[in-house]
Amino acid sequence: MNRCPSCNAPFEIGDAICARCGAELPAPYEAWDATDDDGYDTGEFANPYPAASPEVAQMIDLGTHPVQTAMGLSHVLSEAGVAHALYPPLETGPQTVHLLVPEAHADAAWQVLHRASLDPRELTILAGADVYLDEQVFAPGTVVLAEGKILEVLNFAMEDPQDGSRFFDVSGHLLTAGFIDIHTHGMLGIDTNQASAEDFSRWSFAAATHGTTAVVPTTVACPAEELRQVLGNLHTAQTAGLPGARLLGLHLESNFISPEYKGAQPPSSIFPADDPRAEAVLAAITDFVDAVCIVTVAPEIPGVPALIEKLVNMGVIVSLGHSAASYDQAIAGLDAGASQVTHLFNAMSPLHHRNPGLVGAALERDELYTQMVCDGVHVHPAIISMAISAKGAERFVPITDSLQGAGMPDGAEFFLGGQHVTVHDGVARLDSGTIAGSIMTMDAVVRFLVERVGWDLGEALAMAAASPADALNRPDLGRLHHGAAADLVVLDQELNVRLTFVGGEVVYRAEP
Ligand SMILES: [Zn+2]
Ligand SMILES: [Zn+2]
Repeated sequence: MNRCPSCNAPFEIGDAICARCGAELPAPYEAWDATDDDGYDTGEFANPYPAASPEVAQMIDLGTHPVQTAMGLSHVLSEAGVAHALYPPLETGPQTVHLLVPEAHADAAWQVLHRASLDPRELTILAGADVYLDEQVFAPGTVVLAEGKILEVLNFAMEDPQDGSRFFDVSGHLLTAGFIDIHTHGMLGIDTNQASAEDFSRWSFAAATHGTTAVVPTTVACPAEELRQVLGNLHTAQTAGLPGARLLGLHLESNFISPEYKGAQPPSSIFPADDPRAEAVLAAITDFVDAVCIVTVAPEIPGVPALIEKLVNMGVIVSLGHSAASYDQAIAGLDAGASQVTHLFNAMSPLHHRNPGLVGAALERDELYTQMVCDGVHVHPAIISMAISAKGAERFVPITDSLQGAGMPDGAEFFLGGQHVTVHDGVARLDSGTIAGSIMTMDAVVRFLVERVGWDLGEALAMAAASPADALNRPDLGRLHHGAAADLVVLDQELNVRLTFVGGEVVYRAEP
């Protein structure tokens, strides 16, 4: 759509005066011969910006876009591989610029132009790393950040413009979207159920040291009063501002699960969704609904299908797990609005060829996102590989399911939901021997997927960022595309975290 440079009102091609404010409008397009010797047929050019606009103009109209150094702009466009034609011929200085860009390059051109119009001191440039995008790698590439968001991703290594922008030479490294952990009970001695607002804040930083830029702290089943306390503390921490990873909201491994497949959940807090105690739990969720991300339930438990509908209508994501569900009961949960499965294979009835159960439903139904603990202890690497093949990387969400032992040394002891846990040989177990969550971190998960499962690096990185973002319905996270949150991580060749950004700011930098 064409807009008035003075008041931003839309106008029709051919209008000379803005109908709203009376300002003189840019020259009418039909006066131009746009099929001249630049060789482009104007019919191929579209204005895709804003992306939501269905209207297609014949060319990008910059109007009075404040391009300060037009010749510099031309240079940047060529450097970025953007084929272009500038009309009319440019002179240095502020002016009206009309730009013809082939449709395929229009997005890139707009990003470059947007950058050219910003104060360089507002820009952060990370140049020279192999940049991992969803489906391709720019090796080397450049990522430019502004206003807390990704401004542009370029398929070449930009040189330091020395114009006041913050420049990071990250050549020899990998750059990718920050990791997102949607199922983690804690780390470094912090446990979600017991966490104070300060603990959440410490956790936010500790996660960022492992390349994780968004966390969904996860509770074990607990009384409503305890849940209310945790939600309140998380809300306080979120409001106060966090030093590292975003804390997106709680994941409740809820009360409404199968006693038979409770895993490490304390039995005293497990009850059906039509139990009188359920009301107080639902009230806590309702009161703090903005601090609730995911609720795990077992679909076969009385009252749960109705509860799923209620939660989904509140904007909460429902995951199926800790369950003895038959295939049909699992599908009923899906039909009620559940969109995920919690730690596939763990704490659910096993796959049987005549009784596929929740595992079968998860692997068969494409729409279900599948969380899987990727630590080599909870699930054999061969099963992880099979599950990724069955689901596709875009529906596979690796999780740590980590406990407070994550980041702690061997021999450390702690309590989970009142039960004693010991870390030994990289495994956390209850005294009964039951595995009680992992001590993984997301960077270790990525290394595990590549080194032990043997999965493709690019897909492993996407599974650790884009897949969980999609599973949370957060298109603003998990990808390095224009307009997304500037949450990213720089890794060395051994996939160790060197530098973590959240919202365009450095939150962690490894010692050299
Ligand atoms: Zn669990
Ligand atoms: Zn868990």
